[in-house]
Amino acid sequence: MILLDGKKVRDDIAKTLREKIEAFSSRPKLCIVQVGENEESATYIRQKKTFGETIGAIVEHRKLPAGVTEKDLLEVIAKLNADASVHGIIVQIPIPEHISEDAVVDAIAPEKDVDGLGGVNVKRLWENKKNGFMPATTKGIMSLLSAYEIPVAGKHVVVVGRSSLVGKPTALAFLNADATVTIAHRSTVNLSDITRSADILVVAAGRPHFIQRDDVREGQVVIDVGITAITGEKLDEEVVERTVTGDVHFDDVKDIVGAMSPVPGGVGPMTVASLFQNLVSAYEMQTRV
Ligand code: NAD
Repeated sequence: MILLDGKKVRDDIAKTLREKIEAFSSRPKLCIVQVGENEESATYIRQKKTFGETIGAIVEHRKLPAGVTEKDLLEVIAKLNADASVHGIIVQIPIPEHISEDAVVDAIAPEKDVDGLGGVNVKRLWENKKNGFMPATTKGIMSLLSAYEIPVAGKHVVVVGRSSLVGKPTALAFLNADATVTIAHRSTVNLSDITRSADILVVAAGRPHFIQRDDVREGQVVIDVGITAITGEKLDEEVVERTVTGDVHFDDVKDIVGAMSPVPGGVGPMTVASLFQNLVSAYEMQTRV
């Protein structure tokens, strides 16, 4: 089994991005807007800050109170849109329910929407236009396969999960890359038959260890997108051991499949690296003279 090592590919991408940024006349800047407190969001933002600093980008973390109104949040975004020193803007999802997620992502200027979740960029992906930003997780999956020279054109790709954040854009990206795509979801019947029929199986269901040996077949390429935080043993009074697990039961399937991305260390690191590839493209587009 070939381990699709997202950390290694991420480090290669980091090197390329660092070299590019060193040659720029100023530094690309990403602004991450967070509304309220959320432990998982805080972890993701920390990972983005760390990676950004490694490559020489500026990452600004703007924290707004959980009770901020939609109007005030939209004003913050409008100011960031108008600020030429900011090249990328992301609003860390989830946001509180009193604010419309659609309104917020659509308020981000398309050329700064490095998460690729706003309407303009979604349409560009839908239409297979190359000038849009692909959502980072989707881009990370495609780049991971490409780094390991795994062909996609003509392959049967099964994507388990149909969320707007992961499943749908990922299925579209594979379709755009000439794969034959099946999307499975909560109401899919005979899921195992479908997952076994895949050449490339992408699992983004958010169900730990949900794909097991009966769901895969010899030689398949398996991409595990799932991340579920598992709180483990209490190490002492303050610190509780935390880890994450994927949607695929790694040990159960590792002797069957041909290649697989682990969790942690697979799609997660690729997602962060892909976001910054988008940021660097945004910088290049905005500073072009
Ligand atoms: P979501 O809850 O919005 O969507 C889950 C999807 O899985 C739904 O479309 C649902 O129909 C499908 N599903 C659920 N149970 C199923 C079942 N029993 N059989 C078939 N399909 C089923 O979640 P999401 O935002 O798409 O995220 C999916 C997973 O990916 C989560 O674990 C999330 O933490 C992880 N994630 C990872 C990254 C990364 O960088 N690696 C990024 C984003 C999300």
